Amino acid sequence: MKRKLIIIGAGLAGLSAAFTAAEAGFPCILVSQQPSERSQSVLAEGGINGEQSGGQTALQSHWQDTMKAGSGLSDPNAVRNLVRGASEIICGLMDLGTPFQMTEEGPALRKLGGHTRPRTVYAGNSTGKAILTALADAVRRQEAAGLVTRMDNHRFRKLILQEERCLGCFV
Ligand SMILES: Cc1cc2nc3c(=O)[nH]c(=O)nc-3n(C[C@H](O)[C@H](O)[C@H](O)COP(=O)(O)OP(=O)(O)OC[C@H]3O[C@@H](n4cnc5c(N)ncnc54)[C@H](O)[C@@H]3O)c2cc1C
Repeated sequence: MKRKLIIIGAGLAGLSAAFTAAEAGFPCILVSQQPSERSQSVLAEGGINGEQSGGQTALQSHWQDTMKAGSGLSDPNAVRNLVRGASEIICGLMDLGTPFQMTEEGPALRKLGGHTRPRTVYAGNSTGKAILTALADAVRRQEAAGLVTRMDNHRFRKLILQEERCLGCFV
């Protein structure tokens, strides 16, 4: 029997994890205390940062700005991966139907606080809600295909551990 992944939380992080796992053929259970539409993710306004062009110099600048905004506390490798992967993730979100503001050349960019150049892709002033709606729709299709099982209104309590091995969790 194929094991199921358990994902706790169904905001943008949880939905994205469930979508990626199901796309790769891993069935998963998505547990959340509240429905996705009530997560903090729907409040995100300004946009999502990612260099769309400009090569290595632009990526280096995005990395530097992000490290500075994190007061040097961020994991440099995690930030490097984020900066390198951002453009592809934004393209993936567009493919799922997120209505980002567009120009003839590609996504419109705005410059948010802490950034030295415009690199923020946005959907009006409700970017989080727009992305969440697109991702939740995609996960709903995977749910219909039997790849995702949703457990809304369930609160995570604790992991079931056997020595160092995780066997599941109590909700
Ligand atoms: C006003 C505002 C504006 C923002 N603007 C931006 C922006 O412009 N750009 C940007 O990048 N970021 C922005 N952010 C930050 C961004 O919204 C968050 O970083 C992001 O949405 C976090 O996503 P998440 O999935 O980790 O968390 P959440 O969306 O908070 O989801 C958490 C999930 O976990 C579930 N959960 C919690 N506890 C339990 C439990 N014990 N058991 C089961 N489930 C549980 C919740 O029900 C929910 O489903 C903004 C945030 C706010 C508040």
